[in-house]
Amino acid sequence: MRLEISELRAGYGRIEVLRGIDLRVASGSVLGLLGRNGAGKTTLLRAIMGLTGTASGSVRCGDREIIGLAPHRVPACGIAYVPQGRRLFPEMSVEENLRMGLFAGGEGDPASRRAFALDRFPALAARLRTPAGRLSGGQQQMVAMARALATGARVLLLDEPSEGLQPSLVDRILETIGQLRADGVTMLLVEQKVEAALRVADRIAFIEQGRIREHLTPERLARDPSPLERYVGVRRA
Ligand code: ATP
Repeated sequence: MRLEISELRAGYGRIEVLRGIDLRVASGSVLGLLGRNGAGKTTLLRAIMGLTGTASGSVRCGDREIIGLAPHRVPACGIAYVPQGRRLFPEMSVEENLRMGLFAGGEGDPASRRAFALDRFPALAARLRTPAGRLSGGQQQMVAMARALATGARVLLLDEPSEGLQPSLVDRILETIGQLRADGVTMLLVEQKVEAALRVADRIAFIEQGRIREHLTPERLARDPSPLERYVGVRRA
């Protein structure tokens, strides 16, 4: 399912953070979104989900316009958000967290949605009764992504999934993102770890002060890494 964002403006109260965002994410591809702290990355993901107070413009998920929908109706359009810091229900078991995704979800039989989510994160099968708050950071990230998949989403918005994880777990999460892309899932990936985004993204977009400044392939960035320094402050050898 394709994600198409046009002229999206959003903010908090009178403060406009997104100043006309235009982005396309092709079906079954990964777009890595990079930018400095405060550039508007999280606000973009939240605005897509209807979670900022005000938003105007257009966000199309497949054929459906989702701007203007009440937030609880957005997941049924096939899109799910995995927030920064995971935001699990820590006292609830892994199974109960997954159930929240199943209830929030849209199309497809819940049993097959649950099976698909667990199939992508087999490590969770042995921990279904464990309270989510007792899991390691890597396992919590898996639960957060599995919960999003349990909604039946074909578009995932991932906010810094590798944050706070040791390198081997970052590798696992990136492998799973690759697997989901092969499954045809469309992903918009916000990352602070530039290398992680470059490893899995088909295209990279740079956001600065609420606007997309550049949109290019990792191959072009490898030839000319200057946008990394310009928009993220990272120098690459
Ligand atoms: P980071 O990497 O630090 O998370 P970001 O690119 O995700 O940065 P946002 O969190 O989207 O940036 O923040 C963009 C701007 O919106 C910042 O100036 C921030 O202070 C402001 N902002 C974020 N959340 C709120 C809020 N709830 N109320 C008011 N202003 C906010």
